[in-house]
Amino acid sequence: MTLQQISSFAAGEWIAPGSGARTIASAITGEPIATAGNDALDVQAMLDFARNTGGPALRRMTFHERAKMLKALAQALGTRKQALYDLSFNTGATQSDHLIDIDGGIGTMFVFASKGRREMPDGHVYLDGDVEQLSRNGTFLGQHVCTPLQGVAVHINAFNFPVWGMLEKLAPTLLAGVPAIVKPATNSCYVTELAVKIMLDSGLLPVGALQLVSGGLGDMLDRLSCQDVVSFTGSADTALKLRQNPVILQNSVRFVAEQDSLNASILGPGAEPDTPEFDLFVKEVAREMTTKAGQKCTAIRRIIAPQARVEAVIEALSVRLAKTVIGDPRLETTRMGALVSNGQKADVLAKAEIIGQEAERVFGSPDTFHVQGADGSKGAFVPPMLFHCADPDGAQRVHDTEAFGPVSTIMGYRDLDHAIAIANRGQGSLVTSLITHDPGTARQVVLGAGAYHGRIYINNRDSMKESTGHGSPLPHMVHGGPGRAGGGEEMGGVRGVKHYMQRTAVQGSPEMLATIGEKWVPGAAEIQGPAHPFTRKFGELAIGETLHTAPRTVTMDDIEHFAHFTGDTFYAHMDEDAAKRNPFFPGRVAHGYLLLSFAAGLFVEPNEGPVLANTGLDGLRFMKPVSAGDSIKVRLTVKKKTRRTDEYGEVRWHVTLTNQDDELVAEYELLTMNAY
Ligand code: NDP
Repeated sequence: MTLQQISSFAAGEWIAPGSGARTIASAITGEPIATAGNDALDVQAMLDFARNTGGPALRRMTFHERAKMLKALAQALGTRKQALYDLSFNTGATQSDHLIDIDGGIGTMFVFASKGRREMPDGHVYLDGDVEQLSRNGTFLGQHVCTPLQGVAVHINAFNFPVWGMLEKLAPTLLAGVPAIVKPATNSCYVTELAVKIMLDSGLLPVGALQLVSGGLGDMLDRLSCQDVVSFTGSADTALKLRQNPVILQNSVRFVAEQDSLNASILGPGAEPDTPEFDLFVKEVAREMTTKAGQKCTAIRRIIAPQARVEAVIEALSVRLAKTVIGDPRLETTRMGALVSNGQKADVLAKAEIIGQEAERVFGSPDTFHVQGADGSKGAFVPPMLFHCADPDGAQRVHDTEAFGPVSTIMGYRDLDHAIAIANRGQGSLVTSLITHDPGTARQVVLGAGAYHGRIYINNRDSMKESTGHGSPLPHMVHGGPGRAGGGEEMGGVRGVKHYMQRTAVQGSPEMLATIGEKWVPGAAEIQGPAHPFTRKFGELAIGETLHTAPRTVTMDDIEHFAHFTGDTFYAHMDEDAAKRNPFFPGRVAHGYLLLSFAAGLFVEPNEGPVLANTGLDGLRFMKPVSAGDSIKVRLTVKKKTRRTDEYGEVRWHVTLTNQDDELVAEYELLTMNAY
């Protein structure tokens, strides 16, 4: 049988395996299927290619252009899903596992594409937070800005998710404007190689934006600089070894690690066996144990249940686990496939033995289980195994030994504080779940366990139909955890993009900050446009373009009319004596909403024109009351422009209302959609 040659993509060329190549075996048959790796790979040329060609090209694009590219890449991958599924069976994964890895990876890319368009500017600088007032008169301000690192992101991935593992790191990296060198785990790199080919063949990526190392990285990490990032997923041992690299330490190379953790799931104290929460708990635990044959960084390794329910949980879990059909993942009736390799099988069995020193195996035996459609002695099959630890306080290994397979340990707790203490014994995890219908229990767990867990997933009868599952890291939410989980953080929407950018505190005058951030700042120059700004198209409007309106006097008749017309007869507008008793008002005052309406009446240009719609109003503040006889005027300034489609874009206007003494009465940001 000819072995598939898994290539690397280095400095613009596909490089076939060479000396030092490793053989990769099928998880199902144990037979060799491919080779990967080449000691002669020129890693310096790869770094140079990324830094000198890929990086500048990506940085020339705006966040929105890169977000659109991500969307198109996800679409390109989507059209070739079946080819990725077909290859992926050899890793031992079932069709439902593929949905997590392949569809999940593509979905993650879509989310980053959408967040990039909605939450990041159509420019080159990301503004982190608001302007800080650093001076009394506002002539010296501060603003945190993020710009892309000028190096390369080296992604070292685990074997369990050859597609999602790559895409969940790649999407935020490319969105940030940083090129990536992806190094998948060798055991499943043939699936990653195809996904990389699809993306490169699409022609959507700038040259140098994406390279692939199939096999070893050589001495690439010894050549990294302060502009590079290493993002690692895998074992704690490898993470420890790599983060100690003297060059990484010396150059303060960012090192993001996500590693094995002893995730837990807690059954709340009130969940009796006949409640929806009890059934839900059993279902989630069984699913987490068997999905991807337990090879998930988020899988539930420790099951924490009220002491009095332990027996019932073991019984219900055993019934469920007994229905797990193990076998060839290509068969539709198979519920759990194989581990990725016989090496992993040996490792999982060895770790299960260690756990067995402190816990009794109450379900599943590696010596007697049925494998359908495959030879159980050749493929990397193991059955689900449930252990019971009767003394979680005295035990140690159940809290620090990760058997990276369908292996989990149940332990009982006395009260909620004890449950929290057991969960925290893992010394840092990616996720802990809590199944409870009691909000007070949820609050106590978050306060007691939050510091030890990167994510806390709470589920019950109200959310179970739509909940996403204990084990699913979502692109919107951070994925990572303290301590044993690696101390890193990935995804979490724009938070994840910032790992690939430098945050810089910029200080200067309003004019400087406005130009740098492409966003008008109070105090920066106002531009007098050639015509009313509502008559000007999106592309014509300049940042800072300002309209000053004529004043309008507010009368008592206006207040009366507005009150009766709208029904807002709140005493501060209607009752002089009552309003006076209120410390905020001098007497009857105009409604804030009346002032907003008058403001609109002052600044709009009524004729049909490029302003298509008023889509919102942000940050409204009323600073000073307006009484009958006062007059108000409006200043309307183009603060920011965001392209939305080829036909229209969003204009954010800074609006201030001032009175006859030029005192600020109200301030807000108005959003309109404007035609090109
Ligand atoms: P490893 O930590 O051995 O490998 C993870 C990645 O690091 C792989 O891409 C691997 O490449 C690479 N790597 C290993 N050594 C080096 C090195 N010296 N320089 C550069 N890269 C290196 O984990 P495995 O994938 O082998 O899994 C082993 C264990 O890790 C599992 O049993 C499990 O306990 C844990 N694990 C945890 C995961 C999590 O997300 N929490 C995910 C996967 C595994 P290569 O494959 O070529 O060796």
